[in-house]
Amino acid sequence: MRLNDKVAIVTGAAQGLGLACAERFLAEGAKVVLADVNSDALQLVLAGLGDRAAAARAVVTDVSRQADVVRLVEEAVRSFGRLDIMLNNAGIARSQDFLEISEEDFDTVIGINLKGAFFGVQAAARQMIAQGSGGAIINMSSVNAQLAIPTLSTYAMSKGGMNQLTATAAVALAPHSIRVVGIGPGTILTEMAAKAIFSSDDARRAVLSRTPMGRCGEPEEIASVAAFLASDDASYITGQTIYPDGGRLVLNYTVPVSD
Ligand code: NAD
Repeated sequence: MRLNDKVAIVTGAAQGLGLACAERFLAEGAKVVLADVNSDALQLVLAGLGDRAAAARAVVTDVSRQADVVRLVEEAVRSFGRLDIMLNNAGIARSQDFLEISEEDFDTVIGINLKGAFFGVQAAARQMIAQGSGGAIINMSSVNAQLAIPTLSTYAMSKGGMNQLTATAAVALAPHSIRVVGIGPGTILTEMAAKAIFSSDDARRAVLSRTPMGRCGEPEEIASVAAFLASDDASYITGQTIYPDGGRLVLNYTVPVSD
């Protein structure tokens, strides 16, 4: 129970990596505020938590709106009295040709993935500084912060920016004992991956040919990293993005893929 008595917010918590992280934080003893733009899915998740729901709250939030993010932090404090952990996880990917990206595409992806995370860091940090006892802020990045997939340009730009958000916020907030860290997963089996990457057999083979461990990750394998980074076990880690990616980023050549 590494997160006993801690209060955490997880955005994009209605499914996928966010839900896995929220469940892991609950299992580690934290009180968790689950935030998502999808109200129906959020209510279903809360209902499915059973006994664990006593330590959980659901707050419908569109992270691309600063006012929503500020209200989310206020709701967390109203519910549980404080905030110790902020996981900026909500994100979307639009798969499209580079030359077809519109202003609306750019604004939407950057607005949710990067602007949303920025105001998440800022709102959480203000609350943590007011409390005076530090905290941990985690940004869900991606291997695409470093890799170039031409059909995922807006996504890659948002995650590249997010890594610099993590770095600059870490330096800005270190005097307040607030750690800011990133997680950059490889391909993890969630709905996002199914839509963006596993749409065709060719796309699946392309991903696996670049994954030395020969498989995709499971959401729980990201949640365990989030729990570690949120805990005092990671007390001297700040500013960095950790990559649970099955070896993806260090691979130069490709690996064989079975059918
Ligand atoms: P997902 O699509 O399964 O879940 C994303 C959740 O975010 C959904 O519940 C959705 O409703 C919510 N959301 C979307 N827009 C929102 C908004 N404006 N405000 C609040 N919530 C919003 O995706 P996932 O695979 O679980 O991805 C979660 C995060 O992990 C994303 O930031 C993604 O970029 C990152 N990531 C995922 C993978 C992967 O392979 N799955 C790899 C690297 C990084």
